[in-house]
Amino acid sequence: MMSHWRKPLILIGSIAVATAIVALATSPAIALALAFVLLAFLLAHQIHNLSLFRAWLQDPKIDTIPEGSGDWEQLFSRLLRMHKRQAQTENSLQEALSRFLQAGAAFPEAVAILDEDNVLEWCNPKALTYFGLDLERDRGHQVTNLMRQPQFVQYLVSGDYSEPLALKVTTAAHGDTSLSVQVVPYGDREKLLLGRDITLWERVETMRRDFVANVSHELRTPLTVLSGFLETLTDVSDPEPEMVQRSLRLMSQQASRMSRLVEDLLTLSRLESTDTPARETDFSVAEVVHQVLQEAAALSNGRHELEVSLEATDDLHGNPDEIRSAFGNLVNNAIRYTPEGGRITVAWGLEKGLPVFSVRDTGIGIESHHIDRLTERFYRVDRSRSRETGGTGLGLAIVKHVLSRHQGHLDIESTLGKGSVFRAVFPAARRVVSAESAELERTGS
Ligand code: ADP
Repeated sequence: MMSHWRKPLILIGSIAVATAIVALATSPAIALALAFVLLAFLLAHQIHNLSLFRAWLQDPKIDTIPEGSGDWEQLFSRLLRMHKRQAQTENSLQEALSRFLQAGAAFPEAVAILDEDNVLEWCNPKALTYFGLDLERDRGHQVTNLMRQPQFVQYLVSGDYSEPLALKVTTAAHGDTSLSVQVVPYGDREKLLLGRDITLWERVETMRRDFVANVSHELRTPLTVLSGFLETLTDVSDPEPEMVQRSLRLMSQQASRMSRLVEDLLTLSRLESTDTPARETDFSVAEVVHQVLQEAAALSNGRHELEVSLEATDDLHGNPDEIRSAFGNLVNNAIRYTPEGGRITVAWGLEKGLPVFSVRDTGIGIESHHIDRLTERFYRVDRSRSRETGGTGLGLAIVKHVLSRHQGHLDIESTLGKGSVFRAVFPAARRVVSAESAELERTGS
């Protein structure tokens, strides 16, 4: 403290001493005039520096400093250093804030910051999508006036945020949406409001539950029949051979039904575990069609007229086992859903430049509103007919998976009471053009 005073005191002391010497050597009036001049000079110096300081303060530039003199010079340079440091801190705070805001804006979930009175302080663009909150419009407003769903208001004011709230909303971008809303208190009684779209998760969860229920149901029926027969056979002390034979035959039917179901489930799970076939090769479609027809003839047992039309000699690039299983399912269905005396036509050819395997039948047909759902697992138009004919409800789901793994798709056309056409359409890139086809295309015939 004293060091600050030393210089001014020495200066004033020097003026006093000089004035005293001049007063002794000349006259007190001259000494007084000299003292006045010196003090006026001192004052002018301070006023000049002060005005430089004031001017700089009005527009403080980081890279220029007022040209002060004496102690002022030191003061100005120190001030400039402080100013620079503060500007740097401000810059890095600004940058941190803008990075934080950018991160918040890029966040895939809706995020809003509420103060202790639930007034909106900030929110990201996703909050507009899911909560309907617009930062520009709604900042400073009570969030309960903006999001009025009673469940939400109750959740927010309850203060118990241990579990998220499931909320149904309708958004312009996604229509009916299921949200998981969570409040996270932080800092000085402020709150983070988070919203996550769980529509897809809910759908998958429902599918999983349905699937488990379906499989259990499908297995329970044959198991009940099996255990019923076993019980009867155990209870009867001396069963008649005819009854034993009949029971064994029915038990064997139920056992094969279960094993077909397990086979199909394993096939589906294998198909769903990867997106592409494990082993792809060029293979002869004519050969696959031939094998599939042999199985079909055995299943039909002469009850149907089977026709085959191999317009193209082309092969396919893909997994022959998967393709055989898909084609087999389509032909198998045609036989099972076509009454005795009906006709089934299996064809392989080009349609609009794409390789197509088709199965046409003159069977029972399907009402149009079922068609979009036929490839869902366990979807059946007529449950009892499917079971009677040995169906598992998984055949078309397998076909759909196999085709999509080969970048193809299934087209279904059907008329109730008249018949159906199932077309497995492959992309042109899967076609392996035979020499014969190439020649035909070259000559244009
Ligand atoms: P399923 O084992 O029951 O036949 P799929 O997945 O193979 O199961 O077929 C689903 C449903 O589609 C069948 O239950 C049946 O109702 C219908 N369907 C399939 N193919 C035909 C067809 N060729 N004619 C009539 N209905 C069919």
